[in-house]
Amino acid sequence: MNESNTPQLCDGENGNNICIECGLCCDGSMFMHVKIDKSDDPTLLKQLGVESVEVRDKPFFLQPCIWQEGKLCRLYNDKRRFKVCKAFKCRLLRQYLSGEISYPSALAVIREILIRRQSVKAFSEILYPDDNKREPSIFSFIRELNLSGKMKDPAFRRIYSKQILDCFIFRELLNRSFYKKNGKTPELDEK
Ligand code: SF4
Ligand code: SF4
Repeated sequence: MNESNTPQLCDGENGNNICIECGLCCDGSMFMHVKIDKSDDPTLLKQLGVESVEVRDKPFFLQPCIWQEGKLCRLYNDKRRFKVCKAFKCRLLRQYLSGEISYPSALAVIREILIRRQSVKAFSEILYPDDNKREPSIFSFIRELNLSGKMKDPAFRRIYSKQILDCFIFRELLNRSFYKKNGKTPELDEK
């Protein structure tokens, strides 16, 4: 892969790009889907073999995004990359770019949440071991778990107390450091 095709996400400053250590806004942790804007190239999804889905009469594609490779975006240098992807900056990135938070502190936040994410993902695989058709979004998993009523079952809570705590902390870290409005957990958010 030559340098111009090297996948990357949002630009950081001074060569320190926190996004290449993260990828949470593309891997289904923060969002279930990504909005397709009217100005986006309509042939792009077709060419790449991805169907759009309608949500509240608007077109989206699902996360985890198939163009993510590791934590990086394979479409980063493609000028057709979606408008919302080009524009999106999470709370942490904005804090970092404004100098409110240092590079090491931002990385520490990312590392902490990725450890929790790993635990939540392992939990989803325990509960849904056969669901291997498409990697489920972590966002959907936690949402479904909350809606399922399982969290209110004392036996379930006892067996999976550590994993449930990790789900809770994971969501709290997203709310505190990544979503745009502190303390607001979207039920059905869009990138
Ligand atoms: S969630 Fe924020 S820090 Fe992470 S890749 Fe997205 S914009 Fe960058
Ligand atoms: S196309 Fe958008 S959602 Fe997909 S990996 Fe790239 S930036 Fe993330």
